[in-house]
Amino acid sequence: MLEIKNLHASVEDNEILKGLDLVIKPGEVHAIMGPNGSGKSTLSYVLAGKEDYEVTEGSATLDGEDLFELEADERAAKGLFLAFQYPLEIPGVATMTFLKAALNAQRRARGEGELSTPEFMKQVREKADGLGISTEMLKRALNVGFSGGEKKRNEILQMALLEPKYCILDETDSGLDIDALKIVAEGVNALRAKDRGFLVITHYQRLLDHIVPDIVHVMSKGRIVRTGGPELAHELEAKGYADYVGAAA
Ligand code: ADP
Ligand code: MG
Ligand code: MG
Repeated sequence: MLEIKNLHASVEDNEILKGLDLVIKPGEVHAIMGPNGSGKSTLSYVLAGKEDYEVTEGSATLDGEDLFELEADERAAKGLFLAFQYPLEIPGVATMTFLKAALNAQRRARGEGELSTPEFMKQVREKADGLGISTEMLKRALNVGFSGGEKKRNEILQMALLEPKYCILDETDSGLDIDALKIVAEGVNALRAKDRGFLVITHYQRLLDHIVPDIVHVMSKGRIVRTGGPELAHELEAKGYADYVGAAA
């Protein structure tokens, strides 16, 4: 399981996460909702190991291993996958090349041999077909000029190929149109499995109409301030975050 205990983290000496506790077990889909500025994206960046995000207290373990002792590629090798609001654009690198590099990096870190090009092609075609991704798109530079929906499809393809154990998706404020949102939801739903956990971070409830989470958390001012079932998302949609702004100061 992914276990976060009393996590405190700062950006440029400003404490953003102020004692966050969260446990995600394989098979569970958790959602974190919360007002803007509550630290949701900061949590995903800290888990990704982004520079400038300093952990000052607390712990995070991935199946018992200290996450913060692992480099980003080691985190991926152990089965952690993070998808961000603004995916990386890499001019000059074909999407296919990027996917192959990501998969082989994971295999190397696990001490497995690299996939040959034909083996990789077979896997990528199989999974791309399921997502309606054309060969033409796979030849285009990673995310460059991709529509919102294409970026999301590509992200889901990456997730399907890497078969992570824990997936964290930060979709907050992304202004995803309904089609892109459905792509994310269908991708997540297709990958739901008893040995895989998800954390879906979102400001808006509408994504959770399509991905029905097992557990919903409300984050405010750097902490989880309330936890409930899927009905909590509907309550937040109806009532807004007014009750939580100013909470947990
Ligand atoms: P959310 O995703 O819930 O909207 P964020 O994690 O993006 O919240 O931001 C939480 C708080 O941290 C905000 O007050 C924001 O201004 C601050 N913050 C985020 N990133 C930085 C940064 N790089 N430097 C300084 N403050 C930051
Ligand atoms: Mg925000
Ligand atoms: Mg955010």
